[in-house]
Amino acid sequence: MTRATRAVIDLSALRHNLSRVRQLAPRSKILAIIKADAYGHGSVPVAQALAAADAFGVATLDEAIALREAGVDHPIVLLEGIVRAADLNLVRGYRLQLVVHCPEQIAMLELAPGAPVPVWLKIDTGMNRLGIAPDQAQASYQRLSAAAAVAQPVRLMSHLACADLRDDPATPRQLQRFEQASAGLAAERSLANSAGILAWPATQLDWVRPGIMLYGVSPFAEQTGAELDLQAAMQLESELIAVKQVPAGETVGYGGGYRCPETMPVGVVAIGYGDGYPRHAPTGTPVRLGGQTVPLIGRVSMDMITVDLRDCPGARIGDRVQLWGPELPVETIASAAGTIAYELLCKLTNRVDFVYRDGPERA
Ligand SMILES: *Cc1c(COP(=O)(O)O)cnc(C)c1O
Repeated sequence: MTRATRAVIDLSALRHNLSRVRQLAPRSKILAIIKADAYGHGSVPVAQALAAADAFGVATLDEAIALREAGVDHPIVLLEGIVRAADLNLVRGYRLQLVVHCPEQIAMLELAPGAPVPVWLKIDTGMNRLGIAPDQAQASYQRLSAAAAVAQPVRLMSHLACADLRDDPATPRQLQRFEQASAGLAAERSLANSAGILAWPATQLDWVRPGIMLYGVSPFAEQTGAELDLQAAMQLESELIAVKQVPAGETVGYGGGYRCPETMPVGVVAIGYGDGYPRHAPTGTPVRLGGQTVPLIGRVSMDMITVDLRDCPGARIGDRVQLWGPELPVETIASAAGTIAYELLCKLTNRVDFVYRDGPERA
């Protein structure tokens, strides 16, 4: 590890955020969502830190297999199920649970020989992405309950489309459709993602499925994770690799996107879109430097960004820089760059070193 550009993951923050979920949804079991390499934090160390969760959810077979091979022994749910019957052998071999969201998958299980697999039947209550139509839910449940390749009892789930909008009628409508579709079935049910857990307690049901909040990030545009008593698990940091005086009227970076209004000190930080820092972060995007906030200026390059150091006359080459983390919410950077924190967290490239720490960093 020779470059200072790294993501420091605070395992104690992950545990704190999981305990926040327990506090907010005390009657629900927790299916902790660690798909996409645990939202870019590293699925194996995150799973180990979140051992107090009741189960883990991932998107792909490869993600599930990586967890099993690393010794993670929790129930693991494949949130998209499988497309080919041949993959059932891997599902059984690695003791995975399947989401079943379409008639083809039900037929696949009815025809499959072999040991029973635990299944979650997904009902489409309004996302209109994955899921069985609500009026097919009861019949689908009965078919799965009768299939030799399905472990009993079958569980039920659905997914919220608009739970981050605190007074959108879509969420109560989805809850009502889910309740209607599953009326009379003695199955365990799951509906809430992070936004549901936080803003719509009635959606918590038997199992909650937190993702983004486990990483200390708010699902709401108008609130940060810290305001929800969550702790940022990732700190993205780098260092100044040059400090220079740029004459008044000169421009900085590609395209001459920033013109210096006066002769001024400019810092160059060793991070760029080649590391996953968003190329669309505009002039003015905050960067933390030695306990102060300085604005990014000019275009984000592949390996570097430039910052205005007029308020930091003491800044020197080698000084540590925080791009996001406990002092600077990733939500702020995402909104400056016209995206969401989910995307920024997932998009760090393998050029960034990951360091795991138990407890916050001492200054
Ligand atoms: C990703 C995902 C979640 C978690 O969503 P967050 O908004 O990150 O809390 C929950 N359920 C399903 C099915 C998902 O795909």
